[in-house]
Amino acid sequence: MAKRHATRRDGAHGGKRLRLEDELRTQRPAEAEGARRADDLHICPECGRDLVYPVDWAQAEPGFWHVALRCPECEWRESGTYHQSVVDRFDEALDKGTEALLEDLRVLMRANLEEEIERFGEALRHNLILPEDF
Ligand SMILES: [Zn+2]
Repeated sequence: MAKRHATRRDGAHGGKRLRLEDELRTQRPAEAEGARRADDLHICPECGRDLVYPVDWAQAEPGFWHVALRCPECEWRESGTYHQSVVDRFDEALDKGTEALLEDLRVLMRANLEEEIERFGEALRHNLILPEDF
């Protein structure tokens, strides 16, 4: 797995941001897991990100699907007819992508909440919050 280079962007929260970026699974490029196989529909052959999704699909001949694909990262598009097994794998990859996005959302929500709690505690310590604020 490729280790990403990160720079410290600000003083107090730099360390926290680095940890957060490490936790965000959808930030990782697909190349880290190996080159695209022809039947890995979720990986973009142009930019290598694993963000390709179907914009349209229809059943073709039995056991095959016609699928229109789009990469939101580089606007690569392609349409093709793929075997059921390839489409099933694509479906699994999309499910994993959805799970990764939901996990990222949970991580971000927790980080935002922690930051809010820290700021609130800081404001309380400096007597910046008074009863008339409520
Ligand atoms: Zn792309």
